[in-house]
Amino acid sequence: MKVVLIGVGQAGGKVTQSLTQFDYDMGFDAVRGALAVNTAKADLQNLDIDTALIGQDRVKGHGVGGDNELGAQIMQENTTEILDELDGRITTEAEALVVVAGLGGGTGSGGAPMLARELKRIYEKPVYVLGILPGRDEGGLYQANAGRSLKTAAREADSLLLVDNDAWRGSGDSVADGFKRVNDAISQRVGLLFASGEAVEGVGESVVDSSEIINTLRGGGIASIGYASAEASEDAGENVNTITSVTRKALLTSMSLPNAVKADSALLVVAGDPERLSRKGVERARRWVEDQTGSMEVRGGDFPLGSDKIASLIVLSGVERSERIQEFMDRAREAAESQGATTDPDEFTNDELDGLF
Ligand code: GDP
Repeated sequence: MKVVLIGVGQAGGKVTQSLTQFDYDMGFDAVRGALAVNTAKADLQNLDIDTALIGQDRVKGHGVGGDNELGAQIMQENTTEILDELDGRITTEAEALVVVAGLGGGTGSGGAPMLARELKRIYEKPVYVLGILPGRDEGGLYQANAGRSLKTAAREADSLLLVDNDAWRGSGDSVADGFKRVNDAISQRVGLLFASGEAVEGVGESVVDSSEIINTLRGGGIASIGYASAEASEDAGENVNTITSVTRKALLTSMSLPNAVKADSALLVVAGDPERLSRKGVERARRWVEDQTGSMEVRGGDFPLGSDKIASLIVLSGVERSERIQEFMDRAREAAESQGATTDPDEFTNDELDGLF
């Protein structure tokens, strides 16, 4: 799937850069353009991709300091400028636009949903938000900001692909190491997903194409992604169990939103050397995903890659009614209240999320 990435805020810019780099290093060429937008000049100076500084008249390049309402306002005031920047980058070949942001900060939290809305208004392409949830030990302002941003992003985007900052962090990681590890994990998983839709027709028996990714996400709401790999035998027949076990591992231990398995639809991509992939294994794994997710809409396909390993990549769509999201919304509400905000009792519930779709 050919994509154009727009990173908003610090995390958005860093993850956009890391995804672009992964795609380039792997030679996939699925990322056709990338732009990082921020109100903080210093954050943009650390990036190698193209950048746009906005809101200088308001914050003089110093960022919005966690004020996501100001982040949203500045984005709104500058959409024309950003759309102009994007004009030459979003060509007809781009199949989807992906806005990337940390939902707990200010610029990305407020700006990403606003930008997604504008992009949807202008382009007849799916607009996804790749959003990062703050980890449990991050401050109350981050939790409260992310609660609001999550709901707005889920409403405005065609799908909100969520990554929980606690999902892939190592237990002994420093904050910087933790971010690096999470960003690398995002790049590999999401980068492979984009690239899987670019697989060459005829190489695999049943390759995935972009429309399957788009159709899996079509129901909207919140999506998650997971991945696991293992050494494969040279004999495809011996890999039936390898495929089912990496699929179990991907779904049960590696999702970007842990413990959220029930889904409306799903996509299972099995990557590996076509000579080593077992059709029976892929089909068995796909049926297992159907059972686990309770979804009758589980798409499956191969991604031919020259590798000694076999990997399963899983995308779940429609996971917003999960306990994990409710748990997060409770955390966000408590944080908002302890900051002195009066919250509408319905504001931080899954029920309201339900009502959005
Ligand atoms: P903004 O620049 O105002 O949009 O704010 P940030 O992008 O710094 O957003 C803060 C949120 O993003 C917090 O929840 C941080 O934990 C998270 N964050 C910041 N940098 C990174 C990063 O490099 N990787 C990840 N995964 N999360 C980050």
